[in-house]
Amino acid sequence: MGLERDVDLALHLPLRYEDETRIVPIDALHDGDTAQVEAEVVHARVEQRQRRQLLVRVRDASGELLLRFLHFYPSQQRTYEAGRRLRIRGEVRVGLLGREMVHPVTKVIDGAAAQPLPTALTPVYPASAALPQAYLRKAIASALQRAALHELLPPQLLPSGLPSLREALLFLHHPPPDVPLATLEDRSHPAWQRLKFDELLAQQLAQADARARRALLRAPPLRIDEAAPATLTARLLQALPFALTAAQHRVSAEIAADLALTQPMHRLLQGDVGSGKTVVAALAAARSIDAGWQCALMAPTEILAEQHFRKLIGWLEPLGVQVAWLTGSRKGRARKAMLAALASGEAMLAVGTHAVIQDDVQFARLGLAIVDEQHRFGVAQRLALRGKLAAQTGSDEAAQEPHLLMMSATPIPRTLAMTYYADLAISTLDELPPGRTPVVTKLFADNRREQVVARIRDEVVQGRQVYWVCPLVEESEHVDLQNATETHAQLSAALPGVMVGLLHGRMAAAEKAAVMSLFSGGQMGVLVATTVIEVGVDVPNASLMVVEHAERFGLAQLHQLRGRVGRGAAASVCVLLYTPPLSDTGKARLKAMSETTDGFEIARRDLDIRGPGEFMGARQSGDALLRFADLQGDDELLQQARELAPRLWRDEPAVAQAMVDRWLRDRAAYLKA
Ligand code: ADP
Ligand code: MG
Repeated sequence: MGLERDVDLALHLPLRYEDETRIVPIDALHDGDTAQVEAEVVHARVEQRQRRQLLVRVRDASGELLLRFLHFYPSQQRTYEAGRRLRIRGEVRVGLLGREMVHPVTKVIDGAAAQPLPTALTPVYPASAALPQAYLRKAIASALQRAALHELLPPQLLPSGLPSLREALLFLHHPPPDVPLATLEDRSHPAWQRLKFDELLAQQLAQADARARRALLRAPPLRIDEAAPATLTARLLQALPFALTAAQHRVSAEIAADLALTQPMHRLLQGDVGSGKTVVAALAAARSIDAGWQCALMAPTEILAEQHFRKLIGWLEPLGVQVAWLTGSRKGRARKAMLAALASGEAMLAVGTHAVIQDDVQFARLGLAIVDEQHRFGVAQRLALRGKLAAQTGSDEAAQEPHLLMMSATPIPRTLAMTYYADLAISTLDELPPGRTPVVTKLFADNRREQVVARIRDEVVQGRQVYWVCPLVEESEHVDLQNATETHAQLSAALPGVMVGLLHGRMAAAEKAAVMSLFSGGQMGVLVATTVIEVGVDVPNASLMVVEHAERFGLAQLHQLRGRVGRGAAASVCVLLYTPPLSDTGKARLKAMSETTDGFEIARRDLDIRGPGEFMGARQSGDALLRFADLQGDDELLQQARELAPRLWRDEPAVAQAMVDRWLRDRAAYLKA
């Protein structure tokens, strides 16, 4: 269970408590109570009713109680010899035959001194078959004695009214019987508040540390003469077929300001699907090239890299920028030539998947790395990327690191940004280019496919195009393909005279490109695809998106898919086909999709549904990133922790470090991704 150190055990808190501090008279027991009584055995016998069972009748001064055991050992009957005194704990049922308990826990208390009652509530811990409750209770009780729970924080720095950490933990493991249980359940009790505060503070400290370390790094300042007419940046702006939106202007200026600094940029550009992030990336790349430094563009998959940056390349290449494509399918001589062009600095722009930063790729002067669809990379991947970039320095400027711009259509909710991504500057495109009509989303149960096919026919007749997306069946690429192939055959049969194409992950890159070009050229009316088209495909004439088995997709993914339509002037529709019955989370996701098209709202709901760990793709460690605090509910504590963190690093660095070690250990690394 990851309980290695004494402090880990001390921080393994009860799920709930049992009250064994009181003895209740039998006649005061009510139906449904869980209670403890002390009574004397009247008799015990095995009876054959519907099944064999051991019945033990006991009594105290106030009345009688029947104990019923459906599973028992023969020896057990002897334990319940008439006249013995028992302490009995269990759930009370009141039936026709009076009060009874089924399978109570009993303890013989014959003998000289009856055991004293505990004075605190008994903790019930999250346990497992291999680590049973009784064992955990003992291990935790002794760890609590041993654990180094000395107070790290000077008391004047704590929010007022909170107990010391030791007091808080002792209290939560063994609270007195008169504690209002509701305050433990909703975690509003000061002891809980103290734990949450420490946890949030440790996290803020780790963030502040990451920020401070980055401030020590050096990057090439990418400055250009804004007034000069012949810069690539100026020529690009002139060549664009549209004017930038105000939001695009604003975020470009934010990025330009960062790039001019001697500290590496670490910025996320977030903007809903279709908000026009690509042109912002192109402008950043142009700036880098103007300043004499190379730029690398990366996307999570090869098809995305191709699709995604084609437009960008289409803008820059005519202006004289030499581009090196580095993807898995470009091998041998072609790859060698590209590598040489990058090493010499002849090619100023590199495009590809992570292959771009593979070990054998050497840039002459890499000034800027741009990662698209950042949310598709897991936390661990993002960490690895930063590590590799740090090593990828220009040959003579050994201590430098390139600037990093990440782009994502899955915005980070504010609370997450404040906690987990504090070392990340964020630019937001909060405006869509003009002339877009919002996509209407419809939920259809699977048995209404016919209707959907009719709808497709209508769209195609009007000269528009349709996507049909089949889900990825993770266990089986084969089944996956079969689904898509069958759907392709069905649609081809149902839509005579319409070109229906098929695109899936197993096709060779050239085949995929051929299909995509027929679709983007408008000859192909319907494209059946597995999720390869999830992001980055831009065909403005497509006006209908059908997602089959929508219940199997994540919320962010559905939002991305929906973003493939509504890119042109025509009113667009997204049909989510689902197969009942839906799980609760499936229902919540589809409901969110039908209620809003706002990417920020979608992200908030996604966070609610999945929780922060999974939302950020940090699940591989199995650790929830916050165990005690709750981002939505503990805003006030979070604010206090945020204010304290920088002061603590400044005034008491050893204390700050000890806090991070105690609470985060190896999880601190995740906060830097
Ligand atoms: P995303 O943010 O999803 O990556 P894109 O960069 O692919 O969005 O842009 C979506 C579409 O909008 C593209 O066809 C792009 O050329 C177009 N576009 C971007 N900016 C503008 C603008 N200011 N005015 C008009 N169209 C624009
Ligand atoms: Mg994009």
